[in-house]
Amino acid sequence: MNARQVGVDLGGTTFTVALVDREGRIDFKSEHDTLAHEGSEAVMGRIAAAIRELLEQAGVKPSELTGIGLGMPGLHDRERGVCIYASNLQWRDVPVRDRFQQWFDVPVVIENDVRCAALGERHFGAGRGVDDMVLVTLGTGVGGAVIMGGKLQRGDGFAGEVGHQTIDPDGMLCSCGNRGCLESYAGAIGIVRRARAAYARRPSDRLREVAGKDLAHLTPKHLSEAAVAGDETARWILSETGRYLGIGLANVVSLLHPKRIVVGGGVARAGDLILSALREEISRRVPYGMDTTEVVLAELGPAAGVIGASTLVWSAVA
Ligand SMILES: [Zn+2]
Repeated sequence: MNARQVGVDLGGTTFTVALVDREGRIDFKSEHDTLAHEGSEAVMGRIAAAIRELLEQAGVKPSELTGIGLGMPGLHDRERGVCIYASNLQWRDVPVRDRFQQWFDVPVVIENDVRCAALGERHFGAGRGVDDMVLVTLGTGVGGAVIMGGKLQRGDGFAGEVGHQTIDPDGMLCSCGNRGCLESYAGAIGIVRRARAAYARRPSDRLREVAGKDLAHLTPKHLSEAAVAGDETARWILSETGRYLGIGLANVVSLLHPKRIVVGGGVARAGDLILSALREEISRRVPYGMDTTEVVLAELGPAAGVIGASTLVWSAVA
């Protein structure tokens, strides 16, 4: 019988639990509210209840599982299975592995959520067959994870923070406290800020049609829609996003020269509206860049996290 494992993708707002087989196929999956304000014990208890429910639905006993992999934001001590710090969950020194091992009596592995997504893409998505790849996720922030020589790279903990490299010495203040991080320009908040400034100079009826009158709820998705409908300013903002990302990723290519850069996250749905400028910028800055490094879109979508987490219990890459 095909070995199965549970993957958990824990975020600040929602968490997903899934029963995944060795080919990365999801058998059963459910999504729940995290309710982080209730504290780590309550959240872990709810995740455990969701796993039990999932196993019941699937008719699988905990003892039949290969293990449980948990992906979550923040910094973790993998050896001890402890979440050292996760700011959006407000967790500090939480013994995640011990709790779940007590409850289910199977191997439990925890890892950073972006790294889990990278493992998912590496095994079953856009990174298949590639030993040197970098995943960049474009969402509220700009996340990153590095796999080199077929191994996930953690450095001393924070390796792969693509979004927090400085691309403008005196630039915008970032949530991390530094000025001019890539994330402050190419994360959703940075994109929307640049777009509002551009539309204040040059109003657009097309954007108003998709995003509403006062642009208070403007998102990168609205910009994509307006760009597809032919709005020049939206096209410019997305292409400028690609240029900023290209500056950061040119640095990544110079430093690591990966075979493939996989671009995922909700904002990446803008596709070539961002990617063509991104590729152009890498070519401009690294002469051998685009001849040897491929830049492709992620394939697994939001499921990458939960699929990747499930691989933690058997993956040699992890
Ligand atoms: Zn930063």
